[in-house]
Amino acid sequence: MSITENIKYIKDSLPSQITLVAVSKTKPNEMLMEAYNAGHRDFGENYVQELVDKEAVLPKDIHWHFIGHLQSNKVKYIAPFVYLIHGVDSFNLLKEINKQAQKNNRVIDCLLQIYIAKEETKFGLDFMEASEILRSSEFKELKNITVKGFMAMASNTSNEKQIKNEFKSLKEFSNQYSEFNILSFGMSSDYQIAIEEGSTMIRIGSSIFGERNYTE
Ligand SMILES: *Cc1c(COP(=O)(O)O)cnc(C)c1O
Repeated sequence: MSITENIKYIKDSLPSQITLVAVSKTKPNEMLMEAYNAGHRDFGENYVQELVDKEAVLPKDIHWHFIGHLQSNKVKYIAPFVYLIHGVDSFNLLKEINKQAQKNNRVIDCLLQIYIAKEETKFGLDFMEASEILRSSEFKELKNITVKGFMAMASNTSNEKQIKNEFKSLKEFSNQYSEFNILSFGMSSDYQIAIEEGSTMIRIGSSIFGERNYTE
Protein backbone atom coordinates (compact mmCIF):
# COMPACT_ATOMS: atom_id res chain seq x y z
CA MET A 1 0.00 0.00 0.00
CA SER A 2 1.09 3.60 -0.57
CA ILE A 3 1.79 6.15 2.16
CA THR A 4 -1.51 7.85 1.36
CA GLU A 5 -3.38 4.56 1.70
CA ASN A 6 -1.57 3.66 4.91
CA ILE A 7 -2.49 6.96 6.53
CA LYS A 8 -6.09 6.67 5.43
CA TYR A 9 -6.28 3.09 6.67
CA ILE A 10 -4.92 4.01 10.11
CA LYS A 11 -6.96 7.21 10.46
CA ASP A 12 -10.16 5.45 9.51
CA SER A 13 -9.60 3.00 12.34
CA LEU A 14 -8.95 5.66 14.99
CA PRO A 15 -11.48 7.17 17.37
CA SER A 16 -11.80 10.84 16.40
CA GLN A 17 -10.11 12.32 19.49
CA ILE A 18 -6.83 10.58 18.76
CA THR A 19 -3.98 12.42 17.08
CA LEU A 20 -1.79 10.50 14.69
CA VAL A 21 1.85 11.56 14.60
CA ALA A 22 3.52 10.22 11.46
CA VAL A 23 7.05 9.27 12.50
CA SER A 24 9.18 10.21 9.51
CA LYS A 25 12.69 9.78 10.92
CA THR A 26 15.23 8.60 8.31
CA LYS A 27 12.65 9.04 5.56
CA PRO A 28 13.25 11.41 2.62
CA ASN A 29 11.28 14.61 2.13
CA GLU A 30 9.40 13.18 -0.85
CA MET A 31 7.79 10.65 1.45
CA LEU A 32 6.80 13.33 3.95
CA MET A 33 5.34 15.35 1.09
CA GLU A 34 3.22 12.41 0.03
CA ALA A 35 1.75 12.30 3.53
CA TYR A 36 1.42 16.09 3.53
CA ASN A 37 -0.43 16.04 0.24
CA ALA A 38 -2.76 13.44 1.72
CA GLY A 39 -3.68 16.12 4.26
CA HIS A 40 -1.41 15.04 7.07
CA ARG A 41 0.25 17.74 9.22
CA ASP A 42 1.72 16.09 12.33
CA PHE A 43 5.19 14.61 11.87
CA GLY A 44 7.57 13.14 14.43
CA GLU A 45 11.37 13.17 14.28
CA ASN A 46 13.98 12.05 16.77
CA TYR A 47 17.23 13.59 15.57
CA VAL A 48 17.71 17.34 15.96
CA GLN A 49 19.80 17.85 12.83
CA GLU A 50 17.44 15.87 10.64
CA LEU A 51 14.46 17.76 12.01
CA VAL A 52 16.13 21.14 11.44
CA ASP A 53 17.01 20.18 7.85
CA LYS A 54 13.49 19.01 7.08
CA GLU A 55 11.80 22.00 8.71
CA ALA A 56 13.88 24.36 6.59
CA VAL A 57 12.52 23.08 3.29
CA LEU A 58 9.09 21.59 4.01
CA PRO A 59 5.79 23.52 4.31
CA LYS A 60 5.49 25.87 7.26
CA ASP A 61 2.14 24.61 8.49
CA ILE A 62 3.58 21.25 9.56
CA HIS A 63 3.41 20.47 13.27
CA TRP A 64 6.85 19.12 14.15
CA HIS A 65 6.91 16.73 17.10
CA PHE A 66 10.26 15.99 18.65
CA ILE A 67 9.99 12.43 19.95
CA GLY A 68 13.62 11.48 20.60
CA HIS A 69 16.00 11.92 23.46
CA LEU A 70 16.77 15.65 23.54
CA GLN A 71 20.12 16.93 24.78
CA SER A 72 20.03 20.30 26.53
CA ASN A 73 22.65 21.82 24.26
CA LYS A 74 20.50 21.15 21.19
CA VAL A 75 17.24 22.65 22.38
CA LYS A 76 18.13 25.99 20.83
CA TYR A 77 18.03 24.57 17.30
CA ILE A 78 14.42 23.43 17.47
CA ALA A 79 13.04 26.04 19.88
CA PRO A 80 11.97 28.48 17.15
CA PHE A 81 9.50 26.10 15.54
CA VAL A 82 8.93 22.83 17.43
CA TYR A 83 5.25 22.08 18.07
CA LEU A 84 5.49 19.54 20.90
CA ILE A 85 8.49 18.01 22.67
CA HIS A 86 7.53 14.51 23.78
CA GLY A 87 10.60 13.20 25.55
CA VAL A 88 11.32 15.55 28.46
CA ASP A 89 13.05 13.45 31.08
CA SER A 90 14.66 15.90 33.50
CA PHE A 91 13.95 19.17 35.21
CA ASN A 92 17.16 20.64 33.77
CA LEU A 93 15.95 19.93 30.27
CA LEU A 94 12.63 21.59 31.04
CA LYS A 95 14.51 24.64 32.32
CA GLU A 96 16.57 24.82 29.14
CA ILE A 97 13.45 24.50 26.96
CA ASN A 98 11.89 27.32 28.98
CA LYS A 99 14.97 29.50 28.47
CA GLN A 100 15.09 28.92 24.71
CA ALA A 101 11.35 29.41 24.38
CA GLN A 102 11.69 32.74 26.14
CA LYS A 103 14.42 33.79 23.71
CA ASN A 104 12.06 32.98 20.89
CA ASN A 105 9.22 34.79 22.55
CA ARG A 106 6.96 31.75 22.67
CA VAL A 107 5.61 29.03 24.88
CA ILE A 108 6.67 25.47 24.04
CA ASP A 109 4.38 22.55 24.81
CA CYS A 110 6.05 19.54 26.39
CA LEU A 111 5.31 16.02 27.58
CA LEU A 112 7.16 14.37 30.43
CA GLN A 113 8.52 11.02 29.34
CA ILE A 114 7.68 8.33 31.83
CA TYR A 115 9.58 5.12 32.12
CA ILE A 116 7.08 2.26 32.12
CA ALA A 117 9.03 -0.53 30.41
CA LYS A 118 10.77 -3.38 32.10
CA GLU A 119 13.96 -2.73 30.17
CA GLU A 120 17.17 -0.97 31.05
CA THR A 121 17.61 0.93 27.84
CA LYS A 122 14.71 3.35 27.77
CA PHE A 123 14.86 6.98 28.90
CA GLY A 124 12.36 8.56 31.19
CA LEU A 125 11.25 9.58 34.65
CA ASP A 126 9.61 7.25 37.12
CA PHE A 127 6.24 8.24 38.55
CA MET A 128 7.78 9.64 41.70
CA GLU A 129 10.27 11.83 39.84
CA ALA A 130 7.55 13.17 37.57
CA SER A 131 5.31 14.02 40.54
CA GLU A 132 8.17 15.79 42.27
CA ILE A 133 8.87 17.95 39.26
CA LEU A 134 5.21 18.81 38.80
CA ARG A 135 4.69 19.94 42.36
CA SER A 136 7.95 21.85 42.78
CA SER A 137 7.83 25.63 43.05
CA GLU A 138 10.70 25.93 40.55
CA PHE A 139 8.53 24.18 37.98
CA LYS A 140 5.67 26.58 38.55
CA GLU A 141 8.00 29.49 37.79
CA LEU A 142 8.65 28.29 34.23
CA LYS A 143 6.37 30.53 32.20
CA ASN A 144 7.54 29.63 28.70
CA ILE A 145 6.73 25.94 28.77
CA THR A 146 3.42 24.15 29.23
CA VAL A 147 3.37 20.53 30.24
CA LYS A 148 0.44 18.98 28.39
CA GLY A 149 0.77 15.41 29.56
CA PHE A 150 2.96 12.34 29.38
CA MET A 151 4.76 10.21 26.83
CA ALA A 152 5.90 6.61 27.21
CA MET A 153 7.11 3.55 25.37
CA ALA A 154 6.15 0.04 26.35
CA SER A 155 8.65 -2.80 26.49
CA ASN A 156 9.72 -4.19 23.17
CA THR A 157 7.99 -7.53 23.67
CA SER A 158 5.33 -9.64 22.01
CA ASN A 159 3.68 -10.15 25.39
CA GLU A 160 0.51 -8.11 24.90
CA LYS A 161 -0.55 -8.47 28.47
CA GLN A 162 2.65 -6.89 29.65
CA ILE A 163 2.32 -4.01 27.16
CA LYS A 164 -1.26 -3.51 28.29
CA ASN A 165 -0.25 -3.37 31.95
CA GLU A 166 2.52 -0.90 31.25
CA PHE A 167 0.16 1.44 29.41
CA LYS A 168 -2.44 0.96 32.13
CA SER A 169 0.03 2.06 34.79
CA LEU A 170 0.65 5.32 32.94
CA LYS A 171 -3.05 5.97 32.43
CA GLU A 172 -3.68 5.44 36.13
CA PHE A 173 -0.85 7.74 37.08
CA SER A 174 -2.11 10.43 34.72
CA ASN A 175 -5.60 10.35 36.20
CA GLN A 176 -4.44 12.57 39.06
CA TYR A 177 -3.58 15.31 36.58
CA SER A 178 -6.91 16.26 35.12
CA GLU A 179 -5.41 19.48 33.70
CA PHE A 180 -3.37 17.46 31.18
CA ASN A 181 -4.96 16.22 28.01
CA ILE A 182 -2.22 14.44 26.06
CA LEU A 183 -1.09 10.87 26.58
CA SER A 184 1.41 9.95 23.88
CA PHE A 185 1.84 6.20 23.68
CA GLY A 186 1.44 3.54 21.04
CA MET A 187 3.62 2.78 18.01
CA SER A 188 3.13 0.60 14.92
CA SER A 189 3.29 -2.64 16.87
CA ASP A 190 1.14 -1.70 19.85
CA TYR A 191 -1.13 1.22 18.99
CA GLN A 192 -4.35 -0.80 19.12
CA ILE A 193 -3.57 -1.76 22.71
CA ALA A 194 -2.56 1.85 23.40
CA ILE A 195 -5.92 3.16 22.25
CA GLU A 196 -7.78 0.67 24.42
CA GLU A 197 -5.72 1.87 27.36
CA GLY A 198 -6.43 5.56 26.90
CA SER A 199 -3.78 6.96 24.57
CA THR A 200 -4.71 10.27 22.93
CA MET A 201 -1.71 10.50 20.61
CA ILE A 202 -0.07 7.64 18.75
CA ARG A 203 3.31 7.77 17.03
CA ILE A 204 3.43 5.61 13.94
CA GLY A 205 6.43 5.18 11.67
CA SER A 206 6.88 1.90 9.87
CA SER A 207 3.18 1.20 9.34
CA ILE A 208 2.98 4.43 7.33
CA PHE A 209 6.37 4.80 5.66
CA GLY A 210 7.60 1.21 5.65
CA GLU A 211 10.48 -0.32 7.57
CA ARG A 212 13.48 1.87 8.29
CA ASN A 213 16.69 0.45 6.86
CA TYR A 214 18.97 1.03 9.79
CA THR A 215 18.98 -0.31 13.30
CA GLU A 216 18.62 2.11 16.19
C1 LIG B 1 10.66 5.42 15.88
C2 LIG B 1 9.72 5.81 16.97
C3 LIG B 1 8.33 5.56 16.85
C4 LIG B 1 7.70 4.86 15.66
O1 LIG B 1 8.05 3.53 15.62
P1 LIG B 1 7.34 2.49 14.58
O2 LIG B 1 7.54 1.19 15.22
O3 LIG B 1 8.07 2.65 13.31
O4 LIG B 1 5.91 2.89 14.49
C5 LIG B 1 7.52 5.99 17.88
N1 LIG B 1 8.02 6.60 18.97
C6 LIG B 1 9.34 6.86 19.12
C7 LIG B 1 9.81 7.54 20.34
C8 LIG B 1 10.23 6.45 18.13
O5 LIG B 1 11.53 6.71 18.28
